[in-house]
Amino acid sequence: MKFSDLGLNENTLKAVEEVGYTEPTPIQEKAIPEILKRNDVMGIAQTGTGKTAAFTLPMIDILANGRAKALMPRTLILSPTRELATQIAECFQKYGKYQKLTMALLIGGESMVEQQKILSRGVDVLIATPGRMIDLCERGRILLRDVRVFVLDEADRMLDMGFIPDVEKIASKLPSMRQTLLFSATMLPEIKALAQKFMKFPVEIRVDPPMSTADTVEQFIVKTNERGKREVLRNLIRAEDVKNAMIFCNRKKDVDILFKSFTKHKFSVAALHGDMAQGARTDTLNAFRDGNVQLLVCSDVAARGLDLPDVSHVFNFDVPVNSEDYIHRIGRTGRAGRTGRAFMLVTSRDFKALAAIEKMIGKKIEEMSRFSVEMDPEPEPKTKGRRCGKSAKQAEAAPKNDAVKKDEKRERAPAAKEKQPAVKEKQPAPEKEKAAVPAAKAANGNKKAKPVQNNRPPKRQNDRKPAETKAFGNAMPAFMMNEIKLS
Ligand code: AMP
Repeated sequence: MKFSDLGLNENTLKAVEEVGYTEPTPIQEKAIPEILKRNDVMGIAQTGTGKTAAFTLPMIDILANGRAKALMPRTLILSPTRELATQIAECFQKYGKYQKLTMALLIGGESMVEQQKILSRGVDVLIATPGRMIDLCERGRILLRDVRVFVLDEADRMLDMGFIPDVEKIASKLPSMRQTLLFSATMLPEIKALAQKFMKFPVEIRVDPPMSTADTVEQFIVKTNERGKREVLRNLIRAEDVKNAMIFCNRKKDVDILFKSFTKHKFSVAALHGDMAQGARTDTLNAFRDGNVQLLVCSDVAARGLDLPDVSHVFNFDVPVNSEDYIHRIGRTGRAGRTGRAFMLVTSRDFKALAAIEKMIGKKIEEMSRFSVEMDPEPEPKTKGRRCGKSAKQAEAAPKNDAVKKDEKRERAPAAKEKQPAVKEKQPAPEKEKAAVPAAKAANGNKKAKPVQNNRPPKRQNDRKPAETKAFGNAMPAFMMNEIKLS
């Protein structure tokens, strides 16, 4: 099939030709005609298969008729990360070059004054992250009642717990007569059910089996113990023919630690996570994209949608907590038909998470045993937790998972972060050694801890002192712990 068979207008076809695309990808082939028919669409396709063009191209066509009014955008695209929002804006510029479209990019960390100026002139396309969007809506700087097309990119992330309150708030300001488009590489059933709430009789388009990984990515695990993780990773990177690599950690704190460790070992490295100042995030990404940095240590903020066309390797320093994040992470390599290699370090704590990933992708991941080292013994199930009602397994899992979840929520909810009163997080210790390349240094030297949402519940104001145990001191006699049978 050719692009000209899809019903796109001459200007759009000309721009597509100039970009060098000769034929539509499967998701484009199926989604573009449906969008042009003004149907709601739920598009599920592997990462790197041309989803962005699948919705931007027909939107440019739809926008060819009509004009934007001040403060009232005609289309709205919500994206979970600033980087992804910026990338979508670049696509609009590329594909819409023969059409006079006005566009605003509303992302946190950028000057609000400039953004307001553009909005007050009227925009056809508004691309935003939810936090900044709500902020401006609440100040009356954006009116959404003229939005004709609403797009949720990386829809499953936008509809998960971190973002859903913001998305619902924004959707409630949209007109009910609109077209809604949802795109994602993964779509769990419960998220899909939630997605239906925003749509009317959506056409579902799936071009790959759900939760599949690209055949062009070779996947391996390497077994290790907790202490040896960094050394195993260094050995792996030195042995592999790494042109450039993204290294994913579950926690921002570990991104910082790993970045420092690589710097100390003289690797060309930069770090990227959601607590960094926006300028530093952009500089880091550009340095990596331009090939000035070989390794990018990052959190899941970089896992979704980023189009870094030539990443040769992905390393999972940690097994992701959510199985579907594995697909997004390794989808940063092997893009647009290229080949790539993905490695994941697995410790004895990770067997359950690994099994969940293998179940989801429908295959076992091969072990690259020559890099594996002896694992720690599997954690013993603790029995202590029993008395307070927790199972031993829960008691064991709780400290680790809680830490990860708290951190993840912060990463996933920039909206809330931007609105909350500032609570400074502890800054990582200043770098002692020079970063391997100037760009990496600039990117990380610039880093400022951003205000972080304080999720702790407020302390209870209660003057009452806890009641003292008079009869037995603070110890409970054993006989009182026995079960009493009531007849
Ligand atoms: P995306 O899934 O939107 O992130 O796109 C992944 C990559 O595929 C990007 O580098 C696009 O420029 C590229 N791409 C999108 N559509 C096509 C196409 N029809 N032919 C070739 N490459 C494409």
